[in-house]
Amino acid sequence: MMSGQIPQLRPIETPLTRPRLLARGITRRCAWCGDRKAYFLGWFKRQERCRACGHAYRRGDEAFELGAITANIILTFMSILITILVIVALTAPDVSVVPTVIAAGFFAVFGPAIYYPVSFTLWQAVDLWMRRPTEAELRGERDETL
Ligand SMILES: [Zn+2]
Repeated sequence: MMSGQIPQLRPIETPLTRPRLLARGITRRCAWCGDRKAYFLGWFKRQERCRACGHAYRRGDEAFELGAITANIILTFMSILITILVIVALTAPDVSVVPTVIAAGFFAVFGPAIYYPVSFTLWQAVDLWMRRPTEAELRGERDETL
C-alpha cells in the first residue's frame, strides 16, 4: 500500500476540534490537516499517510478498516432509509413501490462503492475524536501506536 509521494511529517497547528474533525471526515478530507487529496491516490487506491501532512490515518490501529467498513455500512443504510422516507413522503398515500425499490436498491448496490473514500476519512475523524492525538503526534515528532 505504500506508494506515491509521502511528505515529511508536518506539525498540526490548527486545533482538532470535534466539529472540525467531522466536517473534514464527511467531506473526504484528511482529518489531520484538512487536505482534499488526503491519502487517496484514486477512488479505491490509498496510501498509509496523508499526501499533504504525512500523518498516518491508521495511528497504530491494526483494525482500522473494521471501523471504516462500519462507517460505510452506516452511510449506505442511512442513504437507503432516507431514500425510502423521501419517496414515501412524496407519494403518500399512494406509495409507488417499484420506484422505491429501484431507488433503494441503487444505494444498496452502489452505496458501498460511493462511500468508500468518505468512510475512511470519516472513521479517521472519529478515531481522532475518540483517541485524542498526543502532543508528540501534533508536533509531528512521532506516530502514536497502540
Ligand atoms: Zn493530512
